[in-house]
Order: sequence, then C-alpha cells, then structure tokens
Amino acid sequence: MPSSIVWFRNDLRLADNPALIAGLGSGHPVVPVYVLDEETESTRPPGAAARWWLHHSLQSLDAFLHALGSRLILRRGPAEQVIAALAAECDARTVYWNRVYDQGSRERDTRLKQALSRRSVAAESLKANLLFEPWEVTTQAGAPFKVFTAFWRACRNLPSPGQPLPAPKRLPAPEAWPASDRLAAWRLPPSAPDWSGGLGASWAPGEAGASARLVAFLDEAMARYREARDMPAADATSRLSPHIAFGEISARQIWRAATARGHSAATEKFLAELGWREFAYHLLFHFGDLGQRNFRSEFDAFPWSNDGTAVEAWRRGRTGYPIVDAGMRQLWTTGWMHNRVRMIVASFLTKDLLIDWRVGEKWFWDTLVDADPANNAAGWQWVAGSGADAQPYFRIFNPVLQGEKFDPTGDYVRRWVPELAGLPAETIHRPWTAEPALPPDIYPEPIVDHAVARTRALEAFRGLRRAS
Ligand SMILES: Cc1cc2nc3c(=O)[nH]c(=O)nc-3n(C[C@H](O)[C@H](O)[C@H](O)COP(=O)(O)OP(=O)(O)OC[C@H]3O[C@@H](n4cnc5c(N)ncnc54)[C@H](O)[C@@H]3O)c2cc1C
Repeated sequence: MPSSIVWFRNDLRLADNPALIAGLGSGHPVVPVYVLDEETESTRPPGAAARWWLHHSLQSLDAFLHALGSRLILRRGPAEQVIAALAAECDARTVYWNRVYDQGSRERDTRLKQALSRRSVAAESLKANLLFEPWEVTTQAGAPFKVFTAFWRACRNLPSPGQPLPAPKRLPAPEAWPASDRLAAWRLPPSAPDWSGGLGASWAPGEAGASARLVAFLDEAMARYREARDMPAADATSRLSPHIAFGEISARQIWRAATARGHSAATEKFLAELGWREFAYHLLFHFGDLGQRNFRSEFDAFPWSNDGTAVEAWRRGRTGYPIVDAGMRQLWTTGWMHNRVRMIVASFLTKDLLIDWRVGEKWFWDTLVDADPANNAAGWQWVAGSGADAQPYFRIFNPVLQGEKFDPTGDYVRRWVPELAGLPAETIHRPWTAEPALPPDIYPEPIVDHAVARTRALEAFRGLRRAS
C-alpha cells in the first residue's frame, strides 16, 4: 500500500509543522522518520550537549506521535541513502520535509530530490523554520542584506507571519511499520562519565516543554525584557533558544503568541531578537561558508595565537576574570549562556587572548544545547569583528567594567563562581584587589592583563589594516 514519508529534521514538533500537515493531506498512511546522520561529510553532526537534548526531544516526539496513533521510525546512516531506501521499503509516493538552510544540508537535499525523482518518488520541501525565507528579503537592487537594521526594516515591511498550523488530531498509520532503531541504542546522552545532571536540572526538552517555556516567559518576564535582558542574573530572557534550535516550537508560533498580547516596546525588542536569528540565517544562506571563513576576507591574514593553555583556561572558566569564568561555567553546567555573557567571553577569547573565533565556535558547538549553525557562526563573527555588520574590532570589552555594569550586585558571579561568593560587590569583579588576597589555588590571578592585551590586539588589528 502506498505511503507518504515525513522526514523530521530540526522541526521536532507536531504543531505548526507544514511537512507533517502536507503528509497528512496526501491521503496516504504517514511514516514519520528521523535519521541520525553522522556520515555525510558536508553536514555537521550535533555536539555533545545537543546530542543529550536530541535524545530527549526524540523521545518526546515519539510519545506525541503515539497519541495520534503513529510512531517515529529511527534510522541511522547517510540521510540520502537512508531516506531513498526507506521510500522504496514503504512504497512511498512522496517524501515531505521542512527546509534547512546550511549549505551542506541544502546540497544533500538537492541530491536526494534527484535520486527520489529517478525512482518516481516526489519530494516536497516546505517553509517552516523561518519567518521570512532568505530569498524573500532583498535590497532594492535584489541583493542580500549585510546590515541588520536595513534587513529587519525590510522584513517588517513584508506581511506579518500568518497563523500557525494546528497539530493533527490523528495520523493514518501504515498496515505494517518499517523497522526502527531503538533510541537507547544510539547512545546520545553522555555516559562514563554522565555529566548531564546540570542539563537535566535546567531544561525540559520537547514540544510541551517549549510551549510551557513560552507561556512562562510571556507571563513573567516579557514586561521587563527591554530593560533587563542584558542582566545575566535577572532571568529576563525567554531561554527558548534550544527549543527553537530543535524546532520544538516555530518562530511563527512565538511571533503570534507574543503579538497576541498586544504591542509594546518590549514586544518589538523581543521580535527584533528573533529578527537577529532571521538575519543570521539570511547570511548563512547567501554566504554558505559563514561558519568556516571570515565574512570579511582581510581577517584571513590576522595573526591568531595558538596558546593552548590560555584556551584551556577559558574553556574551564579559570581565566581570573569573574564574569568570563561565570559564563564559561554556566555553559559547562547547563549547556546555555546568557547572550551578554556570550559576547563578553567571545570578546575575551578573540581579542584579549587573540584566539581564532573558530576555536570558540567549535567549543560552543559542542557544549551549547542551542548550538545553531547560523546563530553561532554569526555571533562569533560579530564579536570577532570579521562578520557582516559586526562590532568593530577596536571595540574591545573590558571584562571588569562589563561585569560591573551588567552584574552590579555580583549575583551572577556568586552563582557560578562559588569561591568568590564571599566577596562584596565592590571587589567581586576585580578579586585581585580583595583584602585579604585570595590564594591562587582557590581562584587564579588574571591570565592576561586586560590593558596590555587590549593594546596588543589593537596593534595586531592595525597591522592587518596596513597590510590590506
Ligand atoms: C558568540 C555567540 C554565539 C552564539 N551562539 C548561538 C547559538 O549557537 N545558538 C543560538 O540560538 N544563539 C546563539 N547566540 C545568540 C544568543 O546569545 C542566543 O540566541 C540567546 O542568548 C538565547 O537566549 P534566549 O532564548 O533567552 O534569548 P531571547 O533574548 O529570549 O531571544 C529570543 C530568541 O531570539 C533569538 N536570538 C536572540 N538573540 C539573538 C542573537 N544575538 N543572534 C541570533 N538570534 C538571537 C534566539 O533564537 C532566541 O531564543 C550566540 C551569540 C553569541 C554572541
């Protein structure tokens, strides 16, 4: 009996899922599938923290599908071959999927479409993960945008995103289900050692967790979002990023829920942050190597350092700068870091330590539960100064002043760097001035003097400009 395949990728939800609705509309039994592809060279496998999230998100999706009389088939291998083989096995007439935008996945999807078409299987890709397709937004000359404000103005002049699609109530099942891997056999969560305790305590992966997070944010934090979003101790941002990255909730659902409560300056600010995500995807789509190459090619000659000891101190949160160390430890423990602190730690790595932004991007990819090919690459290039519409290289964050400005009480540092918890607000961001002095085996001296590092970074940058 013919069937339709719905291939889940980074859209692990039932509501507002156009591929799923299209599969249902085909009138054939629907076979939902997820493919763990760690073999296709051009696509990047998930990092360790994201693998933990993926495990729980797939578990949740499967449970939701069971409630509709369906289930999630799990297969592992190169997605192109796996989907083509499954289509033959299930006598599929059409394979449906929602679009993804990184270059490697797009090329793979194109090859798969051709392979399916040679076997007379149709493939349909749908818009689901962005508010505005990257090719829908262009300058007057028809070119891609490189500046956020102009990009977002153009987006806001387009019709607003429509209503989200409801989740299906039932899904017709095939007479016999194709074989599926066992999720546990994929061993996605860490074991030996299992370091995921902090992730489990911080997050509820899955569609229900995503909806609950959205409602909690709109009820409790949206009103103070504009003023407090930069304060890492305030818990004033949505923390929706991992749910969005795995597609447990769509940008359209968030947009509609936020605007349904009326428009305010806070709502506009929040929508603009979703706009930064749209912009990052716009850049990734038009400049496919955003995650690998400097957007501004003059940075190709930048004299990056390869000081492995400094990188290790940064990764472990032992730089001697409390706001940097707090951020890196929040990341290590919970798989997430506040946006302001992401900017500070990235500036410290690229400018104070002169380490190539790609080293930081890779560490974030492995440790973030919200690791995202567009946002991560765009974020790192923005801070490093090598990106589109980036922070200028000569704007170098002072980690002490940033700490004092955005964590004035020191509560964020106290939470993540407990060995400093006894220091008062006056010294917590400059613990080397504390009396009595802290023993260095308790908390390290700064690994670089910021004033010296700043001068060195500016010198390196001037050299780059002289050379270009
Ligand atoms: C060096 C660096 C690396 C980053 N890496 C990632 C990453 O891998 N994945 C990721 O989702 N975000 C990344 N960001 C962007 C941002 O830090 C996070 O999206 C944000 O902190 C998530 O928290 P939230 O959901 O509470 O954000 P909110 O403030 O509640 O914003 C709502 C949503 O808007 C989007 N958003 C917010 N800020 C940005 C931004 N600056 N750029 C793009 N989208 C944004 C996110 O999807 C976010 O969930 C990075 C930023 C920097 C500076």
